[in-house]
Amino acid sequence: MPPQQPVLYLSKVERRYPQAERPLEVLRGATLAVWPGELVALVAPSGTGKSTLLHVAGLLEKPDGGEVFIEGAPTVDMDDAERTRLRREEIGFVYQFHHLLPEFSALENVVMPQLIRGLRKAEARERAAELLGFLGLGERLHHRPAELSGGEQQRVAIARAVANAPRLLLADEPTGNLDPQTANHVFSTLVALVRASRLGALVATHNLELAARMDRRVTIREGRVAELP
Ligand code: ADP
Ligand code: MG
Repeated sequence: MPPQQPVLYLSKVERRYPQAERPLEVLRGATLAVWPGELVALVAPSGTGKSTLLHVAGLLEKPDGGEVFIEGAPTVDMDDAERTRLRREEIGFVYQFHHLLPEFSALENVVMPQLIRGLRKAEARERAAELLGFLGLGERLHHRPAELSGGEQQRVAIARAVANAPRLLLADEPTGNLDPQTANHVFSTLVALVRASRLGALVATHNLELAARMDRRVTIREGRVAELP
């Protein structure tokens, strides 16, 4: 068996945004590895670059320096088509707001990304139903987002994010919009999913209680990633 490699490895990542005077240096050599089956909390004050780091890790933005390895593959010099393929097949995203398609059912929302990837409809529906069942939504398959609670909507968003069996899950304050009890429940299902599928997950959160339940905690300090106790 080949030695394990991180599903995500950020190596000295730099990201800056142009401003009137001099550029705003958000990431200044951020280095971080996320391993298979590992759940890492990203805990840092607002405005320190959590979303920026997740966007760079998810190949939504290119870094201005450094390298982003997905499953060992360097991505900075890949062409757009290859980056898009990697993003679609290896990376799942969950945001603070669910961004589900309102006119489609929970099941259809989870089926959609699989069809885009080229799976047959019957297989996609089977996997979607299985995933939603795992997340405790077996009785809600045919509900539209508006007919679901906030916690249920977020669990559908999690199912959608992992519909194509990615290796890496990136979540940007996924429970930030939920009451504490619901946040706790959604988070528990997320943990179960990560453990069961040996995904690597990086989760930005302000919730210190949830962060404490993850395997490791990191923060962003002066544009670099630092381990927290
Ligand atoms: P966080 O998610 O930790 O709150 P962000 O990554 O969203 O932080 O933002 C980090 C800093 O970069 C903030 O000061 C923000 O205003 C700035 N920023 C983020 N995105 C852009 C952008 N597209 N253009 C200019 N500045 C940005
Ligand atoms: Mg943010």
